[in-house]
Amino acid sequence: MTATPLSNPQPLSGWGRVMTSVANFVPAHHAEEMSQYIRSAGSRGVLARGLGRSYGDAAQSGGATVFDMTTFNNFTLDPETMTVTADAGASIDSILREIVPLGFFVPVTAGTRLITVGGAIAADIHGKNHHLDGSFGAHVLEITLIDGLGDIRVLTPASPEFWATIGGMGLTGVIVSATFTVIPIQSSYISVDTERGKDLNDVMSRMVERDDEYKYSVAWIDSVATSGRGVITRGDHASLEECKLEGVANPHDYDPKKIATAPGLVPSGLLNRWSVRAFNEAWFRKHPAHREGELQGIGGFFHPLDGVQEWNRIYGPKGFLQYQFQVPDSAGYLVELALRKLREVGTLSFLTVLKRFGPSNEGMLSFPQPGWTLAVDIPAGIPALGRTLDELDALVAAEGGRLYLAKDSRQSPSMFARTYPRLDEWREIRDRLDPNHVFVSDQSRRLAI
Ligand SMILES: Cc1cc2nc3c(=O)[nH]c(=O)nc-3n(C[C@H](O)[C@H](O)[C@H](O)COP(=O)(O)OP(=O)(O)OC[C@H]3O[C@@H](n4cnc5c(N)ncnc54)[C@H](O)[C@@H]3O)c2cc1C
Repeated sequence: MTATPLSNPQPLSGWGRVMTSVANFVPAHHAEEMSQYIRSAGSRGVLARGLGRSYGDAAQSGGATVFDMTTFNNFTLDPETMTVTADAGASIDSILREIVPLGFFVPVTAGTRLITVGGAIAADIHGKNHHLDGSFGAHVLEITLIDGLGDIRVLTPASPEFWATIGGMGLTGVIVSATFTVIPIQSSYISVDTERGKDLNDVMSRMVERDDEYKYSVAWIDSVATSGRGVITRGDHASLEECKLEGVANPHDYDPKKIATAPGLVPSGLLNRWSVRAFNEAWFRKHPAHREGELQGIGGFFHPLDGVQEWNRIYGPKGFLQYQFQVPDSAGYLVELALRKLREVGTLSFLTVLKRFGPSNEGMLSFPQPGWTLAVDIPAGIPALGRTLDELDALVAAEGGRLYLAKDSRQSPSMFARTYPRLDEWREIRDRLDPNHVFVSDQSRRLAI
């Protein structure tokens, strides 16, 4: 393979804006056209990119041809079989706008709806219902994939190639389309119970005790307070009866809106120890100590940050990273330790989220395993941060945990290889799908995947 000149050079980065590389960024129009690109790929290879909501360097590939999949975005709902068949570039946002008013919802949603179906499958995203329903891949029935020879394959859960693609971060091929199940809902509202935990121990005990009673659960943690206090919000789709009791006029209404642009909302000069402390204090106080049955819209409950355009810019030009790890219940102490160590190096985090994971699926590189997952947003460039995160990595690995590839921008190849024990099995299947290793990202180069 030879390096090809870039016909449409474009700088690409992840949501965290910490690393940028220039690729030949081409809109995806037809599968056949993508096959041609793949068959004539230069030495830097090819990669598919969705809406670029992965935080690090997973959806970029310097010098490569990167397909902009968002131009490939049709989908249909089959209400009889309760399935959606979508082009990989269709966004969860556009799908929700169509299916929610018709009484359906996606089986798993991330904390943003501004992602594509291809990105959801490639990262095997998890939501607030992982403890009950698993991750996105568990609800996919069929994937159409262009492999590394440019051939189109139809994959089902019966094949190992399917499970190498679920969570495979675009390295097994270009997902062209997929069929996944949707769930019936009676309304576009969530009936939400809120409780505050006075410290981290209290938050975690409450989650262990009662998460299973709810379809959705998440805790926000006050990362500034040394107690680790937090707010747990849990909920279920509201019934028509609940909506009627609360006087909701149109229970199927769904119209998520943008409310502001982040740099206008929070000038970056204001992001400092005091503003983050004030935000965390206000956020904790805003929530009642205990409230039951509050009806919230889908946008407010699942995707509150989507209301604020370009909120990733509040961290300023250096950008930010998200440290998300997962550990088994037996290593729950690492949640407290990580929060403490990050506080000690002066991490300023608005967004610190704790969830519980249920069983894993068959995806060899899929992130979730039973236990805890903590996600902390961290501005880039804090002195001593790198060393602290390396220390935390070692502890996470020693306890059988791992980091989420969709958020990662900094782990070492050895950390990755040690914590994804099915990597060799995945590589064997990848080699069958892509014998020439055409599919390459900056992340796969960095981690020697
Ligand atoms: C505010 C916010 C909240 C989030 N919350 C969550 C959460 O709760 N749970 C969670 O799991 N994740 C969460 N994420 C991460 C996000 O869901 C994933 O990174 C997802 O993969 C992004 O989808 P995308 O379409 O933007 O993909 P991109 O970021 O563009 O790409 C991600 C990966 O998918 C690959 N890919 C994309 N399209 C294709 C395709 N058609 N074929 C093959 N490979 C493809 C890319 O090569 C890349 O490796 C969050 C991100 C943000 C910004």
